[in-house]
Amino acid sequence: MTGRTELKPLFEELDRRADLGDPLQLWLRDDDAVAPSEPLDRLLQLTNHHGVPTLLAVIPAFTGTELQQRLALEKGVEVAVHGWAHLNHAGAGEKSRELGMHRPLATVLDELARGRERLESLYETRFVPMLVPPWNRIDSDIIGELGGLGFEALSVYGPERSAPLTMLNTHVDIMDWRGTRGGRPLGAVVGDLVAMSRTHKGPVGLLTHHLVHDAAAWDLLELLFAATEKHAGCRWRSARDLLADKA
Ligand SMILES: [Zn+2]
Repeated sequence: MTGRTELKPLFEELDRRADLGDPLQLWLRDDDAVAPSEPLDRLLQLTNHHGVPTLLAVIPAFTGTELQQRLALEKGVEVAVHGWAHLNHAGAGEKSRELGMHRPLATVLDELARGRERLESLYETRFVPMLVPPWNRIDSDIIGELGGLGFEALSVYGPERSAPLTMLNTHVDIMDWRGTRGGRPLGAVVGDLVAMSRTHKGPVGLLTHHLVHDAAAWDLLELLFAATEKHAGCRWRSARDLLADKA
C-alpha cells in the first residue's frame, strides 16, 4: 500500500501520545460548501466511513435549502459561517480579503449578521456560531464586533492568538495552493501533523477544500483517516465539543 512509509512518523508520534495517555485532539474543517455536489458526497462518504466529525464552512450568500436537505441525511456534520459571499474587496497587490476595512465597517457587519441568521435558520441544531473568514483573513476591528453579532468562536489558519472570542484554528492544510494546486505529498502533511502534536497545545485542525481536491488529496485523506480513526493516540472531535472544552 502506498504511503505506509510516509505514515511511520505519524504512527510513532501517536504511539507516544497513547503511552502518555494524552491523545492528540484532531478536528476537520472543510471550506467553501454552497450546494450538494459529487465532491461533497465523496467527502461525506469518507468522513462517515472513518467516523470523522466534519465542520463545513458554508458560504451564506449563495446557499439554501438544497444543501440543507442534503446535510439533513448526515449525522456528524456541523455548519459554520464562511464570510458572506467569499468576495475579495482588497485592492490590487493586496492579499485577498472579504473581511477587511476596505468597506464601511457597518456594511461588513451587516453581511456577517445576515450570514449568521441565514445559516442558523437553515441548520438550527447543526449550526455552530463560529465565523470562518474567507482566505482565513479578518481585520481586528471586525473581530471586536463579532460577539455583538452572536458569534461565539472564530476559526482561521495558524496558531491561535488571544482574541475577544474563542479561537479554534486549523493548522495543517492538505492542499498545495502555490505549487500543484492539488494535494500535498503525504510525507509533508504527516510532518506537519507530527510537528504540531509536539509543539502545539490544544486541538490540531486539518483544513480541506472538497471542491478542488485532486486524486492525491483524496488518497491522502483516506490514508490519514484510516491511520488515525482507531488509534489510541488521537481522537477526532467535533468543533462543538472542542468549543465546549474551551468554554
Ligand atoms: Zn473559502
